[in-house]
Amino acid sequence: MSELLQKARDAGKNAYCPYSNFHVGAAVETDLGVFVGCNVENASYGLCNCAERTAIFSAIAAGAKEFRRLSVSCLDAAENAASNSKMPCGACRQVIAEFFAQDSVIEVDGAGEFTVAQLLPMAFLLN
Ligand SMILES: [Zn+2]
Repeated sequence: MSELLQKARDAGKNAYCPYSNFHVGAAVETDLGVFVGCNVENASYGLCNCAERTAIFSAIAAGAKEFRRLSVSCLDAAENAASNSKMPCGACRQVIAEFFAQDSVIEVDGAGEFTVAQLLPMAFLLN
């Protein structure tokens, strides 16, 4: 297991998920170091934020400019669960595509490593 994945797992323990009880953690490696995130739910479900976006937004808020690698872990996913249930959601894939190079590696605990281009082919981008 990579050091970044371990940090993602540790961050997942802090998830605020009283509704789904599904803890997720993420860690991003940037030019300013590593930033972590967890899922943060809300009674108004549409306001929930995923671990990946929490980590990326924290890094942005701190001033990070280069995003190199991301690891994500669904702590409550069964080991034999389908890989799809451990993958970043569509919203996170779009946010990842905004900040990472197309060949950056996204490590998904229990599912493998994927490039950004694999996760979101033909991403919508304006820059
Ligand atoms: Zn997501």
